[in-house]
Amino acid sequence: MERPPLSATKRCPHCGQWSAHQLQPDDRCEHCQELLDPFGPQRQAELARAWKWEMPPMLLLPIPPTDPAWLRALKYGVVQ
Ligand SMILES: [Zn+2]
Repeated sequence: MERPPLSATKRCPHCGQWSAHQLQPDDRCEHCQELLDPFGPQRQAELARAWKWEMPPMLLLPIPPTDPAWLRALKYGVVQ
């Protein structure tokens, strides 16, 4: 059985045409070149920011590469 390629279509909120969607936040409509997801880039930026700020501070500590994995787990609470 042959499957269709891994792509999706999405109805453009601007012109109402179906357009190929590459599942990227900044995909644009084939017909009117508007963003298929008007909030995609904004949402992606917010996600990136949240991820950055919500990182536990301990993960920002330098971990000596000489530490074996079990010691790193003990020291930095990787296993909880
Ligand atoms: Zn469009």
